[in-house]
Amino acid sequence: MTEEEKSKEAAENQGDSENVEETVKSGEVGAEVTSEKFQLNDLQGLGEKKLAELKAAGISDVADLIGADAKDLASKTSFSEDKLKNWQKTATKKTPEILNEEIKGAGKDYEAKREELLRWEPRTALGIKVKSGELSTIDEVLALPTPIKEVEVVDKLLPELSEEILNVGRVQRVTDSGRRMRFRVITAVGNENGYVGVGEAKGKEAGPTIRKAIERAKINIISIKRGCGSWECGCGRPHTVPFKVSGKSGGVQVSIRPAPRGVGLVSGEIPRKILSLAGISDAWVSTSGHTRTSLNFSHAIFNALFETNKVKVKESDIDSLNIISGQTQNG
Ligand SMILES: [Zn+2]
Repeated sequence: MTEEEKSKEAAENQGDSENVEETVKSGEVGAEVTSEKFQLNDLQGLGEKKLAELKAAGISDVADLIGADAKDLASKTSFSEDKLKNWQKTATKKTPEILNEEIKGAGKDYEAKREELLRWEPRTALGIKVKSGELSTIDEVLALPTPIKEVEVVDKLLPELSEEILNVGRVQRVTDSGRRMRFRVITAVGNENGYVGVGEAKGKEAGPTIRKAIERAKINIISIKRGCGSWECGCGRPHTVPFKVSGKSGGVQVSIRPAPRGVGLVSGEIPRKILSLAGISDAWVSTSGHTRTSLNFSHAIFNALFETNKVKVKESDIDSLNIISGQTQNG
């Protein structure tokens, strides 16, 4: 393994150092998935009366229980600290199952969302123009200074977007009434052909938070430039970045370098997913910096891809490197 690869791996393994308790990946707990959602009252010894007592102390679901300070909670209820810790342990063990179930469900709900597009009633001037067909391509929309506020704009103009969950973390938030667990989800979308977006959302329940993050990724969609990019390749197809691009977010810096056809995506998991969604099949990705959170890492890659639009390209390079903007006609 080269130094470059090592640093990339470290970047991904490190995850969020500050406040994310743990990362849960879809599929990790697949074998244990149950069809019924695990509830507070599934915990042994938690009958209706005790449940009401917990609710009075501000614990309304499993995530609340896991996030609570057992000692503090014991002082507010008749339960011993040990008893509470035991329940927390069991709930923590059961929660990845819930999460995995929610992750699986999130995609299904999106199918339904596409059907809803037919009944879409636009709330913005941009939305009205897209629904009426006055604006009929995503390029026309992206050329406007107006930000996209309705996800349906993207759903209508780029109906074939693929979605990826880049990271699901549990974030502990400290409030006056104690500590609360929330999910923090980072997603990316792309048509694997020149358009890509990254989105983030936080929330109490995994499923709705995933959907919110996907909507944000869609609203953030950009067009990128691709090309052959590498003199030694010369295949003339838009399979990599047209030139070296760099991006920053928080303490993370990344750079994406053009690679000859067949090299593949030499990068960690997060950049690989984002670049694939964008339609790039070959590139060398390197990272540096200290605070390598999944969130900063994802945004840095997105910012680097956006950079492909900012660099001025010479006419001669457009031809020789076969640089294209957005999608190719034949995919
Ligand atoms: Zn090439």
